[in-house]
Amino acid sequence: MSSKRKITVAYGDGIGPEIMKATLGILEAAGAQLEYNVIEIGEQVYLKGISSGMEPGAFDSLRETKVFLKSPITTPQGGGFKSLNVTTRKSFGLFANVRPCKAYSPFVKTHFPKTDLVIIRENEEDLYAGIEHRQTQEVYQCLKLISKPGSEKIIRYAFEYAKKYGRKKVTCMTKDNIMKLADGLFHKTFLEVAKEYPNIQTDHKIIDIGTALIAERPEVFDVIVTLNLYGDIISDVAAQVTGSVGLGGSANVGEEVAMFEAIHGSAPDIAGMDMANPSGLLNGAIMMLVHIGQPLIAEKIANAWAKTLEDGIHTGDIYQEGLSSKRVGTQEFSRAVIERLGQKPINLAVTAFDQSATEPMQIKLSPVIKSKKDLIGVDVFIDWDKDGRDPNVIGEKLRKANADGLELQLITNRGIKVFPGGMRETFCTDHWRCRFQNAGQSVISHAQILDLLKQVQDLGFDFIKTENLYAFDGVRAYSLAQGE
Ligand code: NAD
Repeated sequence: MSSKRKITVAYGDGIGPEIMKATLGILEAAGAQLEYNVIEIGEQVYLKGISSGMEPGAFDSLRETKVFLKSPITTPQGGGFKSLNVTTRKSFGLFANVRPCKAYSPFVKTHFPKTDLVIIRENEEDLYAGIEHRQTQEVYQCLKLISKPGSEKIIRYAFEYAKKYGRKKVTCMTKDNIMKLADGLFHKTFLEVAKEYPNIQTDHKIIDIGTALIAERPEVFDVIVTLNLYGDIISDVAAQVTGSVGLGGSANVGEEVAMFEAIHGSAPDIAGMDMANPSGLLNGAIMMLVHIGQPLIAEKIANAWAKTLEDGIHTGDIYQEGLSSKRVGTQEFSRAVIERLGQKPINLAVTAFDQSATEPMQIKLSPVIKSKKDLIGVDVFIDWDKDGRDPNVIGEKLRKANADGLELQLITNRGIKVFPGGMRETFCTDHWRCRFQNAGQSVISHAQILDLLKQVQDLGFDFIKTENLYAFDGVRAYSLAQGE
């Protein structure tokens, strides 16, 4: 039986084929034990009418090999095309996006030569669940869903990653000063998991100041773990400040399947011109080799690549007069890396992967401890655009509804309390959240809610959705209104 590891490879579009050829050439010369299952993805597949952008056999190939080395693709203009990355992430549960952002100063220009951080972004939840609705003439919503297992999985992954790669600190970034429940869950889970890793330093930053710090002092960060949207944004900020957008690789990792790629796109403007820098895909491939248990080969390539940069052998995108010694094309760059296999950089950091810790990470989640869940009220959302949108009018009308003691407590508009006792200056849209509870916030029944909705309808209101209010183990599990 062959000792070679089978991987799925896609050459992609634009510069994809050139950089993949260069990358695989380096991998082979370094002695990587690989066999390829080549699949077709990208523009031509989309244009055949396959909305996922992947040929029909692609999923079977990924299911079999579990490892995907992917070149960038071109997304055709116009609508109706699903993001191939999002489809792959969601179909195979690739919950972690791992993006190392490193400075290679002075060979790659940056104001932050000491930057060496890794962003670990949750990949499946948050506002990216894609649950959106238009509810009124004026208001649209996008649901932000954060789960305990989803949070725990990515946070544990971040700590395991730090341990495996000898990183010292993990920083969590959230906006839990505002989203106290959703982001609060992520932060709380971070604090719980952190206790199991006493040798790793931890801290937490509110995402806005955290992003500002990445832009100003990126060297203070080591590993950053964060939610999907924040991670998406800070990954680009961090890559940009290191100057390494063209050099960065990225991994999307799941419990079984993992996908490795360059950060950049298919660069159609330089496609077929032998000008592209293959370093982004090569750095993705180095992450892949560690993932599949070939860390010595990964190390050898990383060091030869750094030595090539140091020797001033640069593709046009990073070529600097006076610093670079030779401007080369894609294939010549690849040959230069191959010539340096076995050498180590002198000025840039030498890469050494921990040989003992290369097996895939096992993420074990804590058992769920069930809490006592009590229904203690309901928010009824109403589309209402009458009577000059006067909150007192809608409030007085809704006060007539009473379902066995379930009665109106307050109304908010875009989260701000407008009834009773709102401020006349508050701007109101046509989207009203009306909170109904029993006096004393005692437990209510679903039958009361159904009765209430019937009454709300009979009063002539268009209710657009309801949101039940719960207490878990007696603790209120919904936010108060602003101004409540
Ligand atoms: P891009 O990253 O392809 O190009 C931006 C600029 O950077 C261009 O000037 C390009 O020449 C240059 N560049 C990019 N990679 C380079 C490399 N390796 N070497 C030298 N120069 C490089 O971004 P874009 O132009 O916005 O997007 C082009 C296409 O790529 C679009 O269809 C987009 O949808 C797609 N895209 C795909 C992926 C992916 O497959 N993961 C990611 C981003 C964009």
